[in-house]
Amino acid sequence: MKIQFLDLKAPYIELKNELDEAYKRVMESGWYILGKECETFEKEFANYCGTRYCIGVGNGLDALHIILRAYDIGEGDEVIVPANTYIATWLAVSYAGAKPIPIEPDEKTYNINPTLIEQAITERTKAIIAVHLYGQPADMDLINYIAKKHNLQVIEDAAQAHGAKYKGRRTGSLGDAAGFSFYPGKNLGAIGDGGAITTNDPVLAEKVQILRNYGSKIKYYNEVKGFNSRLDELQAALLRVKLSKLDEWNERRSIVANRYLENLRNCNGIVLPYVPKWAEPSWHLFAVLYSEREELQSYLFKNGIDTLIHYPIPPHLSEAYADRGDKIGDFPITEHIAKSVLSLPMGPHLNQGQQLEIIGRLNVYTNKKFC
Ligand SMILES: *Cc1c(COP(=O)(O)O)cnc(C)c1O
Repeated sequence: MKIQFLDLKAPYIELKNELDEAYKRVMESGWYILGKECETFEKEFANYCGTRYCIGVGNGLDALHIILRAYDIGEGDEVIVPANTYIATWLAVSYAGAKPIPIEPDEKTYNINPTLIEQAITERTKAIIAVHLYGQPADMDLINYIAKKHNLQVIEDAAQAHGAKYKGRRTGSLGDAAGFSFYPGKNLGAIGDGGAITTNDPVLAEKVQILRNYGSKIKYYNEVKGFNSRLDELQAALLRVKLSKLDEWNERRSIVANRYLENLRNCNGIVLPYVPKWAEPSWHLFAVLYSEREELQSYLFKNGIDTLIHYPIPPHLSEAYADRGDKIGDFPITEHIAKSVLSLPMGPHLNQGQQLEIIGRLNVYTNKKFC
């Protein structure tokens, strides 16, 4: 029995009729960019997140980049980012011409540690990007409080957190603006690339709408040097179908997560995800820490179980950011996570039998080794 990390075909099988219908509707419409489907999806997703506006864009990285541009953040500015994140968070800041200022994570949640933010703020700081890593919401009240005090924008990187809740409110509505990704493997995934920006701010909403489409509101009248980053009609139509299933699929992820939490408690050396009282995670990933991660990964692999590492090299140590001159040891908590993190199979279509096989293997491996 082979257990995939994530079955990307299963959602299609489950929703085949509706997805095929949406595909056909777009194909036969003769209209493929910025039309009814995108507009309707934007309304539906804004409604889902509890925001006034949603603007579809080309991908998650563009979503973050365009938000920063719309806030006029660029050359000479600093943006506070988590040290422990996917590199896209940093790249958005770099694209805008600003400097990412990394902050170590909280040791339990792996998300940005709000108590370390204030000491990193300078007169150049313009914004804080909070990432809801693995679908665990960041501690937004504290982040918003600090931001307000220093007059900074708060941007959520919600690329892994569609539908996750913080104190009962959905991600995407917790800061000044949020960027989402609809990369196929995300909780709400397109059949290709896609992304969106959510916000309650009408001025920002209009700016990003102009920026995503060559800087023009009226065709061929270009107010600013914009970008080409649009959510196409086909992706929007398919996303509308999948959005109708998002809560149910997230609920299934949560059942999987709780089964792991319950049944891996006695595995020696495995550090399980910590969920604060106020968090309802979207469980994009189920990431554990284990000091001999490579050995564990190859044991599982030999037994037909695929796992992944999110992420093996933190942005500050990646070659792309070699120009920063960071050294090993500069962000020890982030580096410790990168060295020991392992993502177990997780998704709405992972069945109980498969999961019990994974749980069994993990118990045998970790207990044989240490007992
Ligand atoms: C996926 C992801 C992104 C980027 O999204 P793309 O659609 O691939 O550009 C940004 N941030 C985080 C945390 C992500 O997981």
